[in-house]
Amino acid sequence: MTEKDTEPAPPGALPATVIEMVNQLDDKELQTLIDYAQERYEYAHPSLSDQIEAASGEEIVRIEEYPEYTLVVKRQPCGKDCDECPHGPFLYHVQEEPRFEGGTRLRWRYLGEVNETDQQDTEE
Ligand SMILES: [Zn+2]
Repeated sequence: MTEKDTEPAPPGALPATVIEMVNQLDDKELQTLIDYAQERYEYAHPSLSDQIEAASGEEIVRIEEYPEYTLVVKRQPCGKDCDECPHGPFLYHVQEEPRFEGGTRLRWRYLGEVNETDQQDTEE
């Protein structure tokens, strides 16, 4: 087993008191901290699919999550409450983007109607 001869440099973004406390933890406590930090992070940053909800009259058919974007297939009402409502399914490309005033918003881009019977490719 090779030993690390240099101590890792503490990240400047963390308060000194946090670094000090982390440095005192044993292996088991450190592992617990890593798991906890991971859970906290996921809690504060819900995945895109957790942020996507069907609006009134809509029906989410499926959500496919990719590292850079999410694809959403959903049926939507036309607003006239016709006999064929909800229409579609329609395919959307959804990305999270930062808002000028802070936080993020979802940017929806309509890609086209989906032919569910023969999985035909949609044009971009
Ligand atoms: Zn309709």
